[in-house]
Amino acid sequence: MMMSWRNLFTAGLVFVTVWMLGLLSGCASPAPKMASVANGVKRVDLGSVTITMVSDGHGSRALDANFVRNAPLAEVQTALREAGLPEDRLTIPYAVLLADIGSQRVLFDTGNGEFGAATAGKVLENMAKTGIDPASVTAVVISHFHGDHINGLRNKGGALVFPKAKIYVPTTEWNWWMDDARMAAAPEAMKNAFAATRRVFAPIALAVARFEPGAYVLPGVRSIPAFGHTPGHTAFAIEGGSRKVMFWADNTNIAALFVRHPDWSAVFDMDADAARATRRKLAEMAINSDMLVAGYHLPGAAIGTLSRRDSGYEFAPLEK
Ligand SMILES: [Zn+2]
Repeated sequence: MMMSWRNLFTAGLVFVTVWMLGLLSGCASPAPKMASVANGVKRVDLGSVTITMVSDGHGSRALDANFVRNAPLAEVQTALREAGLPEDRLTIPYAVLLADIGSQRVLFDTGNGEFGAATAGKVLENMAKTGIDPASVTAVVISHFHGDHINGLRNKGGALVFPKAKIYVPTTEWNWWMDDARMAAAPEAMKNAFAATRRVFAPIALAVARFEPGAYVLPGVRSIPAFGHTPGHTAFAIEGGSRKVMFWADNTNIAALFVRHPDWSAVFDMDADAARATRRKLAEMAINSDMLVAGYHLPGAAIGTLSRRDSGYEFAPLEK
C-alpha cells in the first residue's frame, strides 16, 4: 500500500525531529548553576543528586624544572602566564566531593586532615560552616592512597573522622600499597607515603571494603580504572542526577598545565606513560558522555565543564 502524502509528511517531520535531537545531544548541555553555600563550599543541585565540593585548602611549592618532567621550564612558565598564574610558585588546590544520592551521603577522598600544611586540612572546618555533620557521611570512597587523599580519614588521636561511614577502596591500590615486602624495598623518598597508608588503614583493615576498579561501588557510583598517577588510581562516575559527574581525583594536577597539556607528566605521576594515556581517556569519556568533571586539584569550584582546545583540553569551573 502506498503511503499517503499526509503520512509521508508526518514521517518526514518525525525524521527531522529525531535527527535534530541527535544533533543536540551531541552538543554539550549548558552548565548548571552553582550555589556558593559558604567560602570554600560550593553546591550543585542535579535533581536527585546533589554535589557539594568542600575545599581542603591548598598546598604550595616553588616551581622547579622537575615539576613537569617532560617539558622545558620556559614552556611551563608560559602556560602558567597564559592562565594568569605566577611563574615561580605553584598553588595546588585541594577539594573533596560530597554526593547526596538518595539517602546515601558519599564522600570522595578525605583531604589532608591534621597531617598537611597549615594552609590545608580545611575539610571539617568548611563542613562545619554549612552544618554538615561528619557523622552524617554514610560512605567514604577513596580514589588512591596518596596522603592528601587518605590522611583525613583518621585524626592524630587515632579516631575515625567520619565515624559512621563504610570505607571503600580500590583493590588494585590496596594490594600495591599494603604489600609489606614492597614497603620494605621502597626507596627512602617513598617511606612516608607507605607509613601513611599503614597509619590510616592498618587498624581498620578488616572493615575496609575493596572493589575492583570498573565495578559499581554503591548504587549510582561506578568506578573507572584510571591507573598511572598511582598503580590503582581510580575515578568515579556519579549517576542518577540530571547530569552525570566524573570525579577524576588526580587525573590532572594544576589544570593550566595538565588539562591544557595532557601529555605533560607531573612529578607525582608514578607511571608517567600510563598517566598520560589515562588523562586523555578520561577527558574524552567525560566530553563524549557530556559529564561534569570534578577533580581533587581542579581550580575554582573544582567542578565544571570540559572542552577540547588545541591538542589538549580546557576546564571551566561552574559559576553562580
Ligand atoms: Zn593528590
